[in-house]
Amino acid sequence: MEWAPDKEEDKMKFLSQTFMIRTEKGPQFIDITERVEEVTRQSGVSNGFAVIFSKHTTAAIRINENEPALLGDMERMLEQIAPSCAEYKHNEFAHAFSDNGERPNGHSHCQHLLLGASEAVPIVDGKLIVGQWQRVFLVELDRARDREVVVQLVGE
Ligand code: ZN
Repeated sequence: MEWAPDKEEDKMKFLSQTFMIRTEKGPQFIDITERVEEVTRQSGVSNGFAVIFSKHTTAAIRINENEPALLGDMERMLEQIAPSCAEYKHNEFAHAFSDNGERPNGHSHCQHLLLGASEAVPIVDGKLIVGQWQRVFLVELDRARDREVVVQLVGE
């Protein structure tokens, strides 16, 4: 089998951009859809996909609806699944080694396990393809912190 000759105009692009977000509290849903759309526009990728990735174990990336009452429902659901006031071995570890940068945030890690660090969204004709009610969120699960979100674009 032979590979087709490489044509410059067919070259796949692999582009990434990182942006910072200062969160205010945990849990907090921060709609980052417009920033991802802006990165997509600037990239020149017309067909492919975007991976939106959180570089943190206590801040997640999720797609859902930006409706304030619903965001409150989801915050309560997270608190019910892994309450901040429950006991966590990780919190003992954090207290024992308070100078290692670890915090008593066992609930944040457990909530993050269920949400995940990334989402992938298709790009068609230079636009992110999201449904009418779909928005991309950074979900803060710890406290007010500086967070880094990577958008990796793959396509042509
Ligand atoms: Zn921790």
